[in-house]
Amino acid sequence: MSYPSGRHFLQIPGPTNVPEQVLRAMAKPTIDHRGPEFKALGLEVLGGLKPVFKTAGPVVIFASSGTGAWEAGLVNTLSPGDKVLMFETGHFATLWKNMAVRLGLEVDFVPGDWRHGVDPAVVEAKLAEDKDQRIKSVMVVHNETSTGVTSRVAEIRKAIDRTSHPALFMVDTISSLGSIDYRHDVWGVDVTVGCSQKGLMLPPGLGFNAISAKALAAAKTAKLPKSYWGWEEMLKANQGGFFPSSPATNLLYGLRESLHLLAAEGLDNVFTRHKRLAEATRRAVRTWGLEILCLDPEEYSPVLTTVVMPGWRGADAYRAAVLDKFNMSLGSGLGKLKDQVFRIGHLGDMNDLMLVGTLGGVEMGFSLTGVPCKQGGVMAAMDYLAAH
Ligand SMILES: *Cc1c(COP(=O)(O)O)cnc(C)c1O
Repeated sequence: MSYPSGRHFLQIPGPTNVPEQVLRAMAKPTIDHRGPEFKALGLEVLGGLKPVFKTAGPVVIFASSGTGAWEAGLVNTLSPGDKVLMFETGHFATLWKNMAVRLGLEVDFVPGDWRHGVDPAVVEAKLAEDKDQRIKSVMVVHNETSTGVTSRVAEIRKAIDRTSHPALFMVDTISSLGSIDYRHDVWGVDVTVGCSQKGLMLPPGLGFNAISAKALAAAKTAKLPKSYWGWEEMLKANQGGFFPSSPATNLLYGLRESLHLLAAEGLDNVFTRHKRLAEATRRAVRTWGLEILCLDPEEYSPVLTTVVMPGWRGADAYRAAVLDKFNMSLGSGLGKLKDQVFRIGHLGDMNDLMLVGTLGGVEMGFSLTGVPCKQGGVMAAMDYLAAH
């Protein structure tokens, strides 16, 4: 294979670009995970995650992908046959549902069109109907990474509260944490699921659960089988900064650095930056005359933009051409959206010029492959970025 000169553009919506400071932080000798130096690292990262989730309660860290952290959320709080309420917002919501079914839960899966988020009114209606309170948990994906649609978690919480239903509330923030405003405590979330390779700008390999007091209480009686994913042993070891089994030490070095970077920029500034890059991207897409998959502007994702291919086909050949010609990876259409859409990730360690380069590659790719659309999208994005 010949050398592709210059930097690869990793513009999928996760894993995201890992900053050099984080890469350097990970390039250190692994230490004794039962020793004093590790204790300081463990305590620092376990404490440092709390402000990112906006919680005063515990956050646990697994050596896992986000999928593992999904499973931990379910097996620690629920029992076989428990009924749960989930919403078909897209591919990731569907995968989480499939997991719940495989674990022996009874899922009420509210159908969706993959172009909208969770409707708080439907949450309210479903819970109000559930007179004998069989629903044990409501599960929502905050930012549906397969579609570029962000659900309104705060409004969903209010909808739950209006029914006074005691169900737990679990939220997947895998692609929103550290990129979109999120408040575990204020929004009364019981289990927040996160992981390392999206807004936290790390490689894959760390899964997180932020846990409320109500979730901890539910864990006392939950009967789904668990061993590796059990919170109890983990929380006990975490009190001293340690882990029950070998932690992903070098990823934790990276996490310490990425938490420093987020704190230095300021979370609110991080969120504003994501919104601004997303708006510039949407202006480009509209100028090209193409369709954004997300139908409700209130639910546009600050993290990624999903673009519908003209005629709803040809996205995979287009993405392959962009990779071959411009050394840029764009996100594929997942599940039933395969080949119909492509996704532009604009999250994590991103700035204006990276976005302009990304959109330049997207626009040149259209010319290259003869996608019928207008020119000038990059210019529209540049105009917006320069003026705002
Ligand atoms: C990426 C992603 C997942 C899956 O995470 P893995 O680390 O690949 O297991 C789940 N949910 C959402 C919303 C995601 O973006």
